[in-house]
Amino acid sequence: MTAMTTAAVLFKAACPDCRGCFELGAGALRLAIGATRRTTFYSFTCPDCGSAVRKPAGERIIELLTGGGVSTLRLHSTA
Ligand SMILES: [Zn+2]
Repeated sequence: MTAMTTAAVLFKAACPDCRGCFELGAGALRLAIGATRRTTFYSFTCPDCGSAVRKPAGERIIELLTGGGVSTLRLHSTA
C-alpha cells in the first residue's frame, strides 16, 4: 500500500552533448533493466538541447531511481 505521498525527488543529471547540468524529476527519467549491464541503462531527454541521453545504470543508480519512483522497464522478463 502506498499511502504516503512521494516527496519530489530530483536526480542530478548531466548532458554529454551540451555539458549542461540539471536536476530531473522522476517523471523525466526512464530506467531500463536488461539481462546484462550493457542493456541496463537510464535515459532522459536533455532539457537544454533536447538530446536523448542514455547512460549505464549500476546497482546503486537502479536503487536510487526505482526508490525515487522512476518508471522501470524490464527488458528481460525471466527472473
Ligand atoms: Zn544537452
